Amino acid sequence: MISNTIKQIADALATLFPLNLFLINEDGIIQWVNEHMLKAANQTELKAIQGKHVRMFGEKEWLTTKSVITSKEKSILFEDVCQKNFFTIKIPHSEDGFRGVIGLSFDITALRKAEVAKQTFLTNMSHDLRTPLTGILGLAEIQAELGTQAQDKEYGLWIYQAGKQLLELLTAVLDICALENPVDLIKKEEIDLTQFVNEIRELMEPSMLNKNLSFHVKRDMSLRFIFSDSIKLKRVLVNLLSNAVKFTHEGEITLAIKWLDLTTHTQIEMQVIDTGIGIPEDKLDKVFDRFYRVDSSYRTKYLGNGLGLSLVKESLEQLGGSIKVTSQEGKGSCFTITLDVL
Ligand code: ADP
Repeated sequence: MISNTIKQIADALATLFPLNLFLINEDGIIQWVNEHMLKAANQTELKAIQGKHVRMFGEKEWLTTKSVITSKEKSILFEDVCQKNFFTIKIPHSEDGFRGVIGLSFDITALRKAEVAKQTFLTNMSHDLRTPLTGILGLAEIQAELGTQAQDKEYGLWIYQAGKQLLELLTAVLDICALENPVDLIKKEEIDLTQFVNEIRELMEPSMLNKNLSFHVKRDMSLRFIFSDSIKLKRVLVNLLSNAVKFTHEGEITLAIKWLDLTTHTQIEMQVIDTGIGIPEDKLDKVFDRFYRVDSSYRTKYLGNGLGLSLVKESLEQLGGSIKVTSQEGKGSCFTITLDVL
């Protein structure tokens, strides 16, 4: 059995760091918890917990413990126990006469509350800033089209362009905040690709028609369902397709989707291909950096803030994917995504 010395060291450590420690045997019986864990469970004496089944903290607690015991693999989890949030590590153990699980956990309830408050603030602020800005943009657009004098029209256009850039920047900064938020966990679900692709088509086709660009979807039809976060994945593809539209003046845009591994079906490849202006070879590895734009001059005809592709890359990393680009100046670009879909 784990010696008293180790228990004493563990308790001493927990006085320095707010750390909960516990030992659960292979039958799910709680063998020992440290002082800190006792308090977290709203108990004062060890005997209130020792010898009890871990189910006393809920069926889920037992299920995750059992899976560590059977798989013999360490597990890292965010758990809700006794109306508190914990960051927990469960480690399988089968030495020194003890077979079961050693657990360490941090109470992150306060951190989580602060994150939720920050998120609510950002969501409200985003709405409060976007609403009047959209109104200003609408009026500037009207002035740019219907102004009675050439100068009025030009001023209207400038207000519209600057406002649009501000709106895009605001959206991107808020997206980054959301991405860096640990509460913003990935929500994987089954995605019906036919429906998913149709939704993307509906979103993107108006801007393509506007520029006389044709849109093709090439999909391996055996690829019908994937398992991923549909909101994040849609945002990634819309971002890439919007860039394709922005930087293409004639020709076509293609979205190609296929299995990468025909037997195991665990990875797919998605490509967004355009026939646009392309990217110089020496700039290819920079386009995924935050705030990087190939043409960053104020007078450039391509509005943007250089945040889209960095967001795409970070989102894909969260989803278990990666992205690379190939391009030829004057001919077009091809962004290739590799994505885990199980
Ligand atoms: P933004 O489009 O807002 O400038 P991004 O991060 O989306 O920012 O893209 C960074 C830069 O990469 C763009 O400014 C542009 O120079 C280049 N780029 C991205 N996509 C394309 C594309 N499809 N064709 C040509 N250049 C592109």
